[in-house]
Amino acid sequence: MKAMYLKKAELGKLISSVQDSGALFVGPVVDAGNVVYKEIGSASELTGDYIIPVTTYKQWVFPQTEVVATFAVTKEGVDLDGVDLDPPDVVVFGARACEAASLASLRSVFTWGEDDEFYTRREDRITVITVGCTAIDDECFCTTVELSPASTTGSDIYLRETTDDEYMAVAVTKKGEAFIKAHHGVFHQKRAAEPELVELKLPEPIKGIKKEKISAWLARTDNYQSELWPRLTRKCFGCGACTFSCPTCHCFDITDEGTAFGGERRKNWDACQFDHFTAHASGHNPRDTQFKRWRNRFMCKFKYYPDKFKTTGCVGCGRCIRVCPVRLDITEVMEEISQISE
Ligand code: SF4
Ligand code: SF4
Repeated sequence: MKAMYLKKAELGKLISSVQDSGALFVGPVVDAGNVVYKEIGSASELTGDYIIPVTTYKQWVFPQTEVVATFAVTKEGVDLDGVDLDPPDVVVFGARACEAASLASLRSVFTWGEDDEFYTRREDRITVITVGCTAIDDECFCTTVELSPASTTGSDIYLRETTDDEYMAVAVTKKGEAFIKAHHGVFHQKRAAEPELVELKLPEPIKGIKKEKISAWLARTDNYQSELWPRLTRKCFGCGACTFSCPTCHCFDITDEGTAFGGERRKNWDACQFDHFTAHASGHNPRDTQFKRWRNRFMCKFKYYPDKFKTTGCVGCGRCIRVCPVRLDITEVMEEISQISE
């Protein structure tokens, strides 16, 4: 499919067209001073002034909390009923290339063994429209983890801003192609000269970081006890903000909520940074100090994800650095490990 164009002034038309089709339109909005993804009703709610929203759009494929079954306690026993899962179509507009890439990581987890349909059905119904970054900040490091603002992995449609206030739209997937066809009244082919594209901004790769050195160092089991872990992570107090804002973090817990007579079984986000995350019923906790919990987060990103799922656990979005109240910077740990394994 040839590149198509979308006028920024016609985003309202696109939103109406999407809503008329019965789908939800999600995009970046300013909320209490932060840019976050939200379901929106009109183009006036959208902002274009952001590096990357503070929160991820993973909540539309992996909700923060959801009912997975209901139960009733009767004289005969417990009746457990599944829920009818029929998620809506969702269009996410204004995603960034790094977090679009995270969908492949999430999918690899939720299709490990049996498919988790609570995830796969939602992901099947989401259309991701990425806008190439024309601004970055000091926390962006996608190019250090082999991605870039031009990466199209995970996007269905990839947009580049033009100097005449339009977007050039390229369909990346069949779903993206179908989306452009379905909303053909909003997209148009350029008739005059080729438009000038606004330049993408790429963060400089962090020179001191070498992913292969990190992998090799983590593969040595004696490094599990390295003094580096407690030293570099001592300021972490386990708030979990890094995990909740991370597009690839996927841990959840199942809880039963209700009365002695019945209730709901819920799937809730959990965070490996919480002190009770691995607490056993016996009271024993194999990750009984914060540095062990932080070490697990790092190993998950750079060892468990690549080893088990052959995907990346970190897309370099920098969210965990921006939201951390004590500025624990994951790239500093990556850099030190790369250096000591020289
Ligand atoms: S670990 Fe941090 S930088 Fe990497 S994907 Fe998660 S939030 Fe983004
Ligand atoms: S956001 Fe910072 S303080 Fe909170 S758990 Fe993550 S690393 Fe620790």
